[in-house]
Amino acid sequence: MKTVEYRHGPVWVIAEQIEGRVRAVSFQLIGHARKLADGLGTPVEVILLGESLDQQAQQVIASGADRVYLGDDPELAVYQPDVYTEIIVKLAQERRPEIMLLGSTFMGRELAPLVAARLRTGLTAHCIDLVLNENKILEQKVPAYGGLISITCPQKRPQMATVAKGVFPRPELDTGRMGEVVLLKVQKNIPRRIETIEIVREEPEGVPLESAAIIVAGGAGASDLEGWHTIAGLAQVMNAALGSTRPAVDEGWTELETMIGQSGKMVSPDLYIGVGLSGELQHMVGIVGAKVMVAINSDAKSPVFEQVDYGIVDDCRRFIPVLIEKIGEYRSEGRELNHGNQDER
Ligand SMILES: Cc1cc2nc3c(=O)[nH]c(=O)nc-3n(C[C@H](O)[C@H](O)[C@H](O)COP(=O)(O)OP(=O)(O)OC[C@H]3O[C@@H](n4cnc5c(N)ncnc54)[C@H](O)[C@@H]3O)c2cc1C
Repeated sequence: MKTVEYRHGPVWVIAEQIEGRVRAVSFQLIGHARKLADGLGTPVEVILLGESLDQQAQQVIASGADRVYLGDDPELAVYQPDVYTEIIVKLAQERRPEIMLLGSTFMGRELAPLVAARLRTGLTAHCIDLVLNENKILEQKVPAYGGLISITCPQKRPQMATVAKGVFPRPELDTGRMGEVVLLKVQKNIPRRIETIEIVREEPEGVPLESAAIIVAGGAGASDLEGWHTIAGLAQVMNAALGSTRPAVDEGWTELETMIGQSGKMVSPDLYIGVGLSGELQHMVGIVGAKVMVAINSDAKSPVFEQVDYGIVDDCRRFIPVLIEKIGEYRSEGRELNHGNQDER
């Protein structure tokens, strides 16, 4: 067999599966890993841990992987932090990846720092872009200081990053692509400090953010829980999904699942209405895919107005009840707001 020497280690993606299906974010990362690997002249390798994932491994190859390390064992069916860390670290010490990418999901956010600490390397969380610079070092782009900054890890390897779903497009499947599936020998009885017993899927209340045609997102300007309920009321009458900024989550007005942005969800509605929020980059990166953007803010000088198509300067607690009333009147005339869920998304 011909052995190929690479100047750089492989580009790795730690794929994530739930109930035997690889998640969309992992496919998106594989697509981008392909580009990075081509830039480095090195293969894409994907670590896939779970049970009965043969077909999924083929899809991973069809998405751009050259090699899949497949840990196929009932013990791996549900994500186990210590077990997954041990397997990934051991393999990384052997294969010496140049880059390691994980989804910025509940799993990735926990697993990435566990692995990075064991490998004594750096990790950039919630990246919104990843590019190679002229020295073939990975520039890990995150919003900060009112713009995008690049974080690099010039010496330690692998260069590790987490990326949210929706940052990169999902690659087209090329079912003719050839790749190798390497079955991992899964070590038994790896000590666990925490055990994941079950992953319970909670159906989100109302319209899901990712597929919503209209999103009403509230921020710190809601001022209190009552103000928040007013914003949520607008989302309800518009049959829109309710989104939020970080302060709204921190205040406990809403759940983390509603947060949009760098460390939240990436969304692409037809219409986005941002209420009582200032348009900070960490939030706005999550809505770059929105077609029409509206802001309601009491401060005419708020930077949010420079970023949206339509602006309304008013106290949201005063304006929204009036808007809800007007929508009611509009409907009572037999007219309907012309929208719905983007069911093909
Ligand atoms: C690493 C990192 C990651 C982050 N990730 C995210 C993320 O994913 N998503 C996210 O949202 N944030 C994120 N943040 C936080 C982000 O930087 C901002 O702090 C946050 O988005 C600001 O939220 P806001 O606009 O609601 O609050 P503020 O910036 O406080 O703005 C509140 C706005 O409400 C207006 N207002 C006040 N009262 C009223 C009223 N009665 N009626 C109408 N308007 C009113 C004010 O004029 C102001 O413009 C992150 C930060 C860091 C450091």
